[in-house]
Amino acid sequence: MPTLILRLDVTGRPLDWISRRAAALMYVRGQVAWEAGEQTFRMFGGTARITGLRSYLDINSIIAGRGTALLGSWAESTPALTNNGLFSRDNYLCMYCGGRFPATMLTRDHVLPRSRGGGDDWENVVTACKPCNARKDNLTIKEAETFGIRLLAVPYRPNLAEGLILQNRNILADQMEFLSMRGSGKRKRLD
Ligand SMILES: [Zn+2]
Repeated sequence: MPTLILRLDVTGRPLDWISRRAAALMYVRGQVAWEAGEQTFRMFGGTARITGLRSYLDINSIIAGRGTALLGSWAESTPALTNNGLFSRDNYLCMYCGGRFPATMLTRDHVLPRSRGGGDDWENVVTACKPCNARKDNLTIKEAETFGIRLLAVPYRPNLAEGLILQNRNILADQMEFLSMRGSGKRKRLD
């Protein structure tokens, strides 16, 4: 996965990941209001016929565009629920046995089973290894506890900043730091 550029709106709210080429176009069109990253990527253009010099553009790892897209809706916007995003949110840990597994061994478990009316949304799904998912079957948490199966952490809905962290597997340190300050780390532990 190539390095992506984190795009913000003019007030500093993270919007999305864009390619370096898309970022270059923003520079060329004068749409970059300010930069916030610590790294730059040099992109080369054509060679000027008169000077023989090659043109280039330095693209910052975090750029703010002009304008405020998504005004008002940003705080409520939720990243799409995908298995990869879910496994990342739960750090590839089974939320029942606490074991760490590769993605191929993990499943999306519905805390309140779908057959019992549970929704397919961030607040009702956790990462579970295949054996734990099979053991929990279509039990509610209360019922599962009688079989010694306990939920280790409450599932939560990531905000957009957290969602951006979950989306990009090739995130740069400065981008991670920027988004982490925006995320709120709402995870509650159950003890
Ligand atoms: Zn497990």
